[in-house]
Amino acid sequence: MNEECSSFESMDLSDEIMRALEKMGMTTPTSVQKQAIPLMMDNRCVIAKAPTGTGKTFAFGIPILEYLNMDAKFVQALILCPTRELALQICTELRALGAFIKGLKICGIIGGQKMDKQVQMLRKNPQIVVATPGRLLDHVQHKSIDISDIYTLVLDEADKMLDMGFIKDIRKIMKLTPKDKQIAMFSATMSREVMDITWEYMEGADEIEVAPKAEDMPKIDQYILHLEEREKMSAFAKIMEQYNCHRVMAFCNTKTRVRIVTEGIRKLGYKVDCLHGDIGQGARNRIMEDFRRGKFNILVASDVAARGIDVSDIDTVFNFEVPNENEYYLHRIGRTGRAGRTGQAFTFVTYGQSIRMDDILHYTKVQTRELDLGELEKAEAPVLDDAEQTEELDLNEG
Ligand code: ADP
Ligand code: MG
Repeated sequence: MNEECSSFESMDLSDEIMRALEKMGMTTPTSVQKQAIPLMMDNRCVIAKAPTGTGKTFAFGIPILEYLNMDAKFVQALILCPTRELALQICTELRALGAFIKGLKICGIIGGQKMDKQVQMLRKNPQIVVATPGRLLDHVQHKSIDISDIYTLVLDEADKMLDMGFIKDIRKIMKLTPKDKQIAMFSATMSREVMDITWEYMEGADEIEVAPKAEDMPKIDQYILHLEEREKMSAFAKIMEQYNCHRVMAFCNTKTRVRIVTEGIRKLGYKVDCLHGDIGQGARNRIMEDFRRGKFNILVASDVAARGIDVSDIDTVFNFEVPNENEYYLHRIGRTGRAGRTGQAFTFVTYGQSIRMDDILHYTKVQTRELDLGELEKAEAPVLDDAEQTEELDLNEG
């Protein structure tokens, strides 16, 4: 078993990297960095499951930069990620990390940009390429990039990449790169699809799991309400009124519940739509677009349907049911509190689900507060059980 390195000093890093870390004000490695950096520096393949915001970019960035051969003229590290934004962000972070490394060239290869501009950049022999899979393969086809000699392949946000249908591209890229390359896979979830890739290409890899620590989590005020099934809708309405909820995601465990809860919320007069497993890709894209644009402000979803969704301005998450998997709880509430904002999450716990909830609290070690239904009762809240009232509100929606 590899010993964890508890400080950057103990990791035997180069002066260039140490200076950059210092300049960026980074004194202590995060949990995933403590575990992944020594393994990757040891040329091991790594499967890391770690939630968003835990410092994964430098977990692979540091070992890659440490092992670059600055005299060689070929691409040595290839980092694949699902979106353009992410690719650009990784480029920026790695450039900052490599600010003191002379001759370092990092090239971003993303869709939606001119091919010839990227061809020119690739001609300058970058050591590191950060790419979305589709565009990378375009360049391979145009022979503007050769990835047959890379040392390290990183699959960043693997779950999201696979959700987005990049599996075929990833298989092609696996074939085009050396058999004995180092692979590092980073993923927030170990979905079925992610497991398939690890079985197929990463036998014998070391596995890392970062249990999200409070310090790694964004700031999210988490409330738990013990109530009965029939009280959920009115509790929801009261919270919506009293807790400044504007951009909301509500989670259920099954698609049937998603439908029922969506209807219930609609009857309360809110603008709401939903995602579940039976909704096709086209409709799903439309719904997400409408949600992003604010055409409606409450999105109800099942865990599976919510995969890969990235909306940065959610202020409130509701768990209409306690999730079936402990880590789903973290994924659900992790939809809020993004981009430095404080988020809030409300979990409805019926009597039958309270053991599940205890298990989640034990596993995740998150801080929660119990919110008493009575506290909500005291304040005025809309109780819309009357059809006429609902209709009126519907008209107001315009
Ligand atoms: P992830 O990929 O896991 O979502 P990132 O790698 O994007 O996370 O890092 C999240 C933020 O934490 C970034 O702003 C990054 O600069 C910062 N960060 C990374 N490592 C450290 C560290 N050791 N100390 C302090 N901040 C860090
Ligand atoms: Mg990341």
